Amino acid sequence: MDLLIRNVSHEGKIVNIFVSKGKIDRISDTVSESDLQGIAVLEGDDNYIFPMLHNGHTHSPMVLLRGYGDDMVLDEWLNTKIWPAEARLTEEDYYWGNRLALVEMIKNGTGFFNEMYMNPRSMVKALIDFPLKARIHFPLIDGMDVELAKKQITDCSLFFENTSWTQNVKGGVALHSVYANSEYSLKWAGEYARRNNLPLHIHLCETEQEIENCRQKNQGQSPVEYLEKLDFFRDNKVFAAHCLWLDESDIDILSGHGVIAVHNPVSNMKLAAGRVFPYSKLKDKGVPVVLGTDGAASNNNLDLLEEMKIASLLQKHHSGDPTLMSADEAFSLSSGPVVSQIFETGSGKIETGSDADFIIINRKSLSMTPATNIKSNLIYSASGHDILHMILQGEILMKDRMIRGEETVVEMAHRRAEILLKS
Ligand SMILES: [Zn+2]
Repeated sequence: MDLLIRNVSHEGKIVNIFVSKGKIDRISDTVSESDLQGIAVLEGDDNYIFPMLHNGHTHSPMVLLRGYGDDMVLDEWLNTKIWPAEARLTEEDYYWGNRLALVEMIKNGTGFFNEMYMNPRSMVKALIDFPLKARIHFPLIDGMDVELAKKQITDCSLFFENTSWTQNVKGGVALHSVYANSEYSLKWAGEYARRNNLPLHIHLCETEQEIENCRQKNQGQSPVEYLEKLDFFRDNKVFAAHCLWLDESDIDILSGHGVIAVHNPVSNMKLAAGRVFPYSKLKDKGVPVVLGTDGAASNNNLDLLEEMKIASLLQKHHSGDPTLMSADEAFSLSSGPVVSQIFETGSGKIETGSDADFIIINRKSLSMTPATNIKSNLIYSASGHDILHMILQGEILMKDRMIRGEETVVEMAHRRAEILLKS
């Protein structure tokens, strides 16, 4: 059914947004009696409407590991907590873990996420129940075992052959990192992605140790130089998560290949990655930057409004320049035309013909009061809890913060985590 969002505040004006077949049909100042025939109405109540948010890097089912292994060193955290728990994940855990993450994303206004996690087939299925837009990257992680790499590669090819991709749910290939993937799988992925026009997704230059180990093993090459030598970047769309320990020549290489850097400030600070994301340098060299939450085990939530605030504060604090990364700029790393183009999710604009993908922010919330500067309130004051409604392609996924099926998902996630983390 068509939808009318009545009396909503868009860029300082109260408007009525008519949606038909998932797209904005028209935006009007008035609504006539005849407009109301055969149309569902969502009262906007003068609340603020914005385009949906994008999460550039996440591992959804890790919401089940929220709070499990905090305050630890990355290496020890992965080896003693995360990887052993992940090895115990059952089909049932993926089922409820994926759904818990999707509910949390909707609550926080995320309409698109760039996923990297095991059992990607389970996420493709979960998206039937909670239909967000997503890029599901098939994960390759072989621990330098070429035989294992070959098995994963066969499974990866099958995944792409047998999955029914849609306009909203698309695929890609994820490599964990240069330290957890063999040269064999890195080379294969670069070639496979080029041949099949698929994006790649990798953790890159997250810690100093990653750089040192890579230089030792690979004739002094940094992870970025090493990947370039393996032909990983050439003619590929690559999402590189973290990108903290980069030198000038690394940035030149990333820029030359159009690599997209995904900034995950909360995860970086929580795991004490030891280096601040070189935002200005990347920006100056024309490297596109988007925002991600990373997994909930290292964040510990999927709240992109919070991520925007922290990204902005971190740049200001570290540089001593409070003019760096304004509220508008922080918002644009996760919402609007530029990120929408990067993630191929539509125009990212609220205008006739665009996909009806919105968040509606509660005007009455304390965080948004007074309304002196709406964008400032949204980034520096509000959080995901201030999002009242979430609409994706004209479908109301959350109304008044209520999502269909949420209670069951929360209850089952509690049960699964209890069993998983006890064993
Ligand atoms: Zn990650």
